[in-house]
Amino acid sequence: MTDAPVLPGRPRGEVRTGPATARAVNVLAPNPSAMTLDGTNTWILSEPGSALAVVVDPGPLDEGHLRRVVEVAEQAGKRIALTLLTHGHPDHAEGAARFAELTGTRVRALDPELRLGDEGLGAGDVIEVGGLELRVVPTPGHTADSLSFHLPADRAVLTGDTVLGRGTTVVAHPDGRLGDYLDSLRRLRSLTVDDGVHTVLPGHGPVLEDAQGAIEYYLAHRAHRLAQVETAVENGHRSPAEVVAHVYADVDRSLWPAAELSVRAQLVYLEERGLI
Ligand SMILES: [Zn+2]
Repeated sequence: MTDAPVLPGRPRGEVRTGPATARAVNVLAPNPSAMTLDGTNTWILSEPGSALAVVVDPGPLDEGHLRRVVEVAEQAGKRIALTLLTHGHPDHAEGAARFAELTGTRVRALDPELRLGDEGLGAGDVIEVGGLELRVVPTPGHTADSLSFHLPADRAVLTGDTVLGRGTTVVAHPDGRLGDYLDSLRRLRSLTVDDGVHTVLPGHGPVLEDAQGAIEYYLAHRAHRLAQVETAVENGHRSPAEVVAHVYADVDRSLWPAAELSVRAQLVYLEERGLI
């Protein structure tokens, strides 16, 4: 027996290269850290029986990793036909240009700066490649350009850094905004309630089998942190650094710089609503 808390979202134990659902294969990038957990999950998506695949988030600029992604697809008899980005952070997007060169694909992203080719990506877009269907779900908040991809046939959603397989994500102030992030979590929750999505294929960490549980936990966690920040300010902790030391005392110090971004986002949120 242990007193370990029940982990939200029913994570699958191990993060590794290999199939996660009928249509999604993970290739784990070799960039583990406190912020990237086991490393970035690069997703290869393909309809069973189709020779074409889509890659979501090629990951860091690591030649070995990028070539490995191509290799894993080729071993499965697939040619990569399109590259998509969940957002522009380097651990997801830095390798995209080189990957596009290796595969001869276009890169589609919300941020025009990250695109290769003339096609963007935005709310309501449906991507169809070799019979595979992906629906674009805007999920700003972690960053302004964050997107999720709904894979209806597998009742799964690829969340990038909006929902992680372990722990919680950073609202990267000033680009990321808490109000947007909460709206995005509610949008993802409605996918679980209205569209039967049950699997989260995250940008880092293990696959989650209980998408709704994970998202409810994220919403509750945000509400809890927000209340703590509000109380800390009421008790005279005015600077973001002071609030972090007070509210994130339970979190490893290596994560405090990231926590400070989230605190800044929370202070803006509270100020804009006249709550502090
Ligand atoms: Zn990110």
